[in-house]
Amino acid sequence: PILILPENYQRIMGKDAQRLNIMAARLVADTVKSTLGPKGRDKMLVDTLGDVTITNDGVTILNEMELDHPAAKMMVEIAKTQEDEVGDGTTTAVVLAGKLLENAEKLLDEKIHPSVIARGYRKAAEEAYRILDQISIEIDLNQKDLLKQIAMTAMTGKGAEASKEKLAELIVEAVAGVAVKQANKWKVDTTNIKLEKKKGRSVGETELIKGIVIDKERVHPDMPEQVKDAKIALLDCAIEIKSPETDTKININNPDQLQAFLEQEEKILRDMVEKIKQSGANVVLCQKGIDDIAQYYLAKAGIFAARRIKREDMEKLAKATGARIISNINELSSNVLGKAAEVKEIKEGEESLIYVTGCENPKALTLLIRGGTEHVIDEVERAIKDGIGDIAAALEEGKVVCGGGACEIELARKLREYATQQKGREQLAINAFADAIESIPRILAENAGLDPIDIITELTVRHENNELSAGLNLEAEEEVIQDTLKAGIIEPTKIKEQAIKSAVEVAEMILRIDDVIAAGKSESSSTGQGMPPSEY
Ligand code: ADP
Ligand code: MG
Repeated sequence: PILILPENYQRIMGKDAQRLNIMAARLVADTVKSTLGPKGRDKMLVDTLGDVTITNDGVTILNEMELDHPAAKMMVEIAKTQEDEVGDGTTTAVVLAGKLLENAEKLLDEKIHPSVIARGYRKAAEEAYRILDQISIEIDLNQKDLLKQIAMTAMTGKGAEASKEKLAELIVEAVAGVAVKQANKWKVDTTNIKLEKKKGRSVGETELIKGIVIDKERVHPDMPEQVKDAKIALLDCAIEIKSPETDTKININNPDQLQAFLEQEEKILRDMVEKIKQSGANVVLCQKGIDDIAQYYLAKAGIFAARRIKREDMEKLAKATGARIISNINELSSNVLGKAAEVKEIKEGEESLIYVTGCENPKALTLLIRGGTEHVIDEVERAIKDGIGDIAAALEEGKVVCGGGACEIELARKLREYATQQKGREQLAINAFADAIESIPRILAENAGLDPIDIITELTVRHENNELSAGLNLEAEEEVIQDTLKAGIIEPTKIKEQAIKSAVEVAEMILRIDDVIAAGKSESSSTGQGMPPSEY
């Protein structure tokens, strides 16, 4: 035999390659399937260090799983794209891709060529966007109630469940606070909303603050607790004397020399503080350390200072107050300082928070998320992120659709009608696509312990009778089939569009592969588990 590949390469060709890839992708979809919807279960993930995450969030689960198979990794990519583009709908996108591939496999069994399937899927997707557009409802910023319902739909069944009404109100207020109208369209820069987590108290006491809140305290008790009309210096250099890079020896032969040396050090620090004072700053927020002596002089000068602030927070502060982050104290002058009406330290039990309010940029907001334990806060944060992403997407597109499977039932129905007008083999692919879309309400029902066949049949009948918003309200005690619009189960159209788009893309990509050529794992990566190579 002729060997064209090195020995440790693995090659899988043709049908085998295709089937194995499909199987891997389906396994990923099956893993997250049980978390879909308000009655979806949570997963407990334990990482190599033993840290525990409890979540219902598709992208978080897949990220933590550190999957190894290339096709599985492609599925994780869709979840990430969905998260980046919309911020919600990750499970839907992955489940949809899994179903598209599962159904494609059946067509492959019937000897339909993958490129025909891919073409059919693409056509179906185009048609799906048109249908979605038709069945969408327009929405604007003044429809606060509708917006609140979108946020609540996003948070249903997540860790935030108990306080979701209050949280939804805060989220709507936050998004409305940062939304700007550009060329007749809303633009929402969600990075203007800072999420700060604080353990203690309850989720219901989460609050929205107009300004930036950081989880730090001032470095010296003699500093003022509160500074009005704050002029803020943001430093990413330490207010310390640099320790020598290499071993340096200083010869000191008598006490006078030692005294002179210490005085010299103190003078350098005093000069640094003097420069800060000269610039007119009355607040110093430093990314690095502040020496004890410098702290003393800063306090003496009545300057409020905090240290070791996260880079992320520094950037948020810069954006909010208009300050420039300075990396050399000599560059400090009045025109690099930021402004805020007030900087204040507020004690909370043992710890403190610094509130920077009345910022130059009124768009800067902080959602201070509270909760009893870290696990709770983290899951609430993820739910809040979904809510923010959904409202932003709804506003930016100005369009929403009914959730609870209502829009999927309608899509599937209309797509099957569309299929009848297409050529034979493509028709099969379009129907397979419609089935995949229908799997969303099917899984929602299954996860709630309902009979999916009964539910889908009933929903389809209702839709044929022109009840276009008939869907599932899984929060209802009985009569789960409801008018979802009335029940307030509403989602941005963009989630659905993006989910279809990424699912079709990945399905098509996986279908087109007929040869997998894999290099053998190199030594260094196979010792793995993220441990540094041991020398002992
Ligand atoms: P994803 O990661 O895809 O957002 P979720 O677990 O958040 O997954 O579930 C979203 C699905 O749950 C959507 O199809 C949405 O319409 C549905 N859903 C939300 N609230 C309800 C409800 N009260 N009853 C039924 N379905 C709901
Ligand atoms: Mg969701």
